[in-house]
Amino acid sequence: MLTDVTESHLMQVFMARQQRLLTMGELAAGLAHQIRTPLATALLYASQMTLPDRTSADLRRCGEKTIDSLKQLDRLVNDMLSFAQGGAARELVSVSALLEQVAQWLRPALRGGIRLTIRTQAPDLTLRANAPSLVSAILNLATNALQAATADLNLELLARRSESGGAQIVVSDNGPGIPAAIRERIFEPFFTTRTRGNGIGLSIVRSVVEAHRGSVRLAESIAGATFIIDLPVEEAA
Ligand code: ADP
Repeated sequence: MLTDVTESHLMQVFMARQQRLLTMGELAAGLAHQIRTPLATALLYASQMTLPDRTSADLRRCGEKTIDSLKQLDRLVNDMLSFAQGGAARELVSVSALLEQVAQWLRPALRGGIRLTIRTQAPDLTLRANAPSLVSAILNLATNALQAATADLNLELLARRSESGGAQIVVSDNGPGIPAAIRERIFEPFFTTRTRGNGIGLSIVRSVVEAHRGSVRLAESIAGATFIIDLPVEEAA
C-alpha cells in the first residue's frame, strides 16, 4: 500500500518553522533587555573618559570596563547568530570527528584542575549535520560545566549508540550540579543563575539539536550535571 506522506511532511516542516519563529520571538523580546545593561555600562565608562583631568590610570580603568562590556555584547550577538544558523547546510560527519573538533576548541581553555576525557564507544557512527553548529552546541554544554566548576573538575564527552540505534552524545561533569528547583527552567531563553550569564546557551543547544531532528535533555545524575543529546544516524554510502 502506498501512502502519500508529502502533505504531512510539509505540515511537519511548517510546524517546526512556526515553533522556531515563536522561540525567535521570545528571544528577541528578552534580547533588548539583555543588550541594555552592557550597552549602558559601555556608554557610561566611555563618556567618563572624555571628562577633563582624567589620569592615565582612570583612562585605563574606564577603557578596560568599556572593552569588558563590549565583549559581553559581542558574545550576545555571536550566540544569537549561531541560534539563527541552526538549520544551515549539512554534511556527513562521524561523531568521533565532531568530538575531536570540540576537544580542539576546549584544550586551550583547560586550566589546572580540569580533566577532559573523550570516549567514543561507537566511532563509526555518522550523522548528517551542520558540523560547526553542532560543535558549538556541544561546546556550550562543556563551557557551562567549566563555568559552574568551583574546584577540580572532571569533564567527560562520550559518544555511543543509543538503545534505539541513534547516536548519543553525553556531556557530563562532576561539578555542583543543577538544583531540582531550576531543572525545569534551564532551557528557557534568558534563564540564568550566573551574574555574567545571558541564559541563551542552553536554548541555542536545544534549537541546534532540534534543527538536526534530535533532542537534548538533562539526565538524572547522582552528582554533577549530565546532558544527553540524541541524534538520528545516517549510514555512510
Ligand atoms: P548561561 O550560561 O548564560 O547562564 P545557559 O542557558 O547556558 O545560560 O545556562 C542556564 C543555567 O543552567 C545556568 O545559569 C546554570 O544555572 C545552569 N547550568 C547549565 N549547565 C550547568 C552545569 N553543567 N552545571 C551547573 N549548572 C548548569
